[in-house]
Amino acid sequence: MDFKPKYLINLVLPLFVLLIATLVYIGYSDYKAIRESAYSQARANISVAQDYLNQHYTAANNQLYLLSEILQDKEDIATFLTAAQYVVDHQNKFLEVGLLMDSTYYGTNRLKFEDVADRVRHRPWYAEAQQSGATFLSPFYRSNSTKKWCVALTRALEVPGKGDVRIVIELDASAMSEDLSSLRTMKDGYVFAVESESGQVVIHPDPSRLGTASVSLSPDILDDILNGEQAGEIPSYAYQDEYKFSVYETNQRFGWVLLSGTRNQEITANALKLGVVGGTLLAMLFFILLVGYLHSRVHQTGGQLLEALEFEDLHLQLTKLLKNTIGCSQVYLFVMNEKEGVLEEPHHHLRVAVPTDLFCRLSGCQQLGRDCQPEQDLIVRQISPNVPCIRLPLVNTARSGHIPTNQLVGVLYICQPGMAYPFFVKMIVNYTLSALNQLLLTQHIRSEDQMTGLKNKNYLRKQMEQRLAETQAQYYLAMIDIDDFKSINDTYGHLFGDKVILMIAALMKRGFRANSVLCRYGGEEFAVLMAASDIDEAKERLEAFRASVAGQKIRVSDKSCSITVSVGFALLQEGMESTISQADKALYRVKSQGKNQVFDAEDPSSESSAAMSGKTGPINHAKLKNTKPFSEVRQSATLTTIDD
Ligand code: GH3
Ligand code: MG
Ligand code: MG
Repeated sequence: MDFKPKYLINLVLPLFVLLIATLVYIGYSDYKAIRESAYSQARANISVAQDYLNQHYTAANNQLYLLSEILQDKEDIATFLTAAQYVVDHQNKFLEVGLLMDSTYYGTNRLKFEDVADRVRHRPWYAEAQQSGATFLSPFYRSNSTKKWCVALTRALEVPGKGDVRIVIELDASAMSEDLSSLRTMKDGYVFAVESESGQVVIHPDPSRLGTASVSLSPDILDDILNGEQAGEIPSYAYQDEYKFSVYETNQRFGWVLLSGTRNQEITANALKLGVVGGTLLAMLFFILLVGYLHSRVHQTGGQLLEALEFEDLHLQLTKLLKNTIGCSQVYLFVMNEKEGVLEEPHHHLRVAVPTDLFCRLSGCQQLGRDCQPEQDLIVRQISPNVPCIRLPLVNTARSGHIPTNQLVGVLYICQPGMAYPFFVKMIVNYTLSALNQLLLTQHIRSEDQMTGLKNKNYLRKQMEQRLAETQAQYYLAMIDIDDFKSINDTYGHLFGDKVILMIAALMKRGFRANSVLCRYGGEEFAVLMAASDIDEAKERLEAFRASVAGQKIRVSDKSCSITVSVGFALLQEGMESTISQADKALYRVKSQGKNQVFDAEDPSSESSAAMSGKTGPINHAKLKNTKPFSEVRQSATLTTIDD
């Protein structure tokens, strides 16, 4: 399957939708769980508040009993007031203890009001028909003496000789509110209480709210409570521009409704917080999956690079891979030409000098590529004057002993890269380097003659094409043929013939300059493509080579013999085929004029001297049989066979 970004996009979209759906689901279940937990916390708070209120009711009731015992036992008001003062001083929830005896009211903190029989009848703590020994709980009211909000527990008792006798304990609503304010539902929650008869707030963390009308308990809910409803939930009500929830339960002793809850937003915010954590984890997972996917795709397509047999294939595959993965405008793959010390880019026909700072990178200054602005790199200036490229040196690292040696094989330029993460870039460099190494090795094998190590005919033709495109230097093509080779084979055997071929190859390698293309054209024919300033220089070199062959003695058993070669050469111009043909013709003339000579295709003297044809080389193992030009013989297999 071909790797294109659309596959990635196709995958990203459903995954993204899945991610959002999962997030919504997680968010919703988080919300539900947090809401549930907030409600149970609120119920637990109410239960604690119930215990707290009941304890204070019981404590006040017990005190009423004890104080009434003291009064009935001693019948002494002073003793009673001392005990009452002690109680008030040691229990801060008791605001005041009072004693109504006939028409006089005695209170703690030295209060004494006389002739108040009529006035007390209007006080909230005074119940007209209160039976002796019974306890009465007053409605919520503001204390006259302390001006604090309170509720009173009153006990009527019989004292001999006295008429109306009652003991009153006022319970401080603010102090109880303060204690209960530590009960919180979630972080911002609260516990408060509302008197069910009046609907006014009796316990609240904010003391200023005491005595005000409740917002949360609507008249409908209050009605239900008065009709016997014990507990319930108010999922949402607005208070000061915020929506809150409360759960409630009635307190039988006080006749109050206890409520606990918090802002609904707090539940949402907590769910959101969890959602964000979950979302982040999911997003990370998504990112890891995406990178993993890209990773495997790059590996898959990177492997295809290794299949390229020609440079054009490699360039095409690499461009496709890079455009489809990291995204870029153009790719340039330069190959190092070791012989000439230049970088070549066959796809765009570029030849450039190796940037000097690249060698610094080779010795380890920088392993990976970096952005190269056009002004920083001479190659970028040439290939991409307006946009930056990443330059990636392709380096083979080998170890000789303990010292690692680096060899520059090529340089990859990725122009205007998209997401050039080092992670991907490293993978791409590795694949390109492997593919380039493999391609160079294949090309090397395919361009070489296995027997002699010289280049073969294919390589020569490619080189001729390439040099023809250049205009700077003059190149000459020489065709070299061993004289009377058939006869050598016949006389000394084929193994000896092979030895002669190897000797000629060795003399060629020794006799010509390093930048010359030395080639075994086929059988006992060779070719040299070399640069020379003019025809004389070319002829001089070839003549020197011819002489070196002729001067070589080869030993066979106890005898020694000499070999000669004939050379025809021509200036590389116009076309490749015509140059080969011209060199061939010149060679043919040498063969017909005695061999062991060097003729130039344009030399008219060689043409005329061909007619004389009496001259032979130092060795004449066989008669000259083939009088056709070599090119013609090569074109006709039948003729070659007949001639051979
Ligand atoms: P001329 O001077 O005209 O070139 O004569 P020649 O005998 O060299 O010419 P010809 O082309 O008739 O003979 C070439 C012979 O080279 C024929 C073939 O058997 C032999 N030959 C070709 N390749 C090899 C090889 O790899 N090893 C050996 N030993 N002989 C080879
Ligand atoms: Mg031949
Ligand atoms: Mg020959």
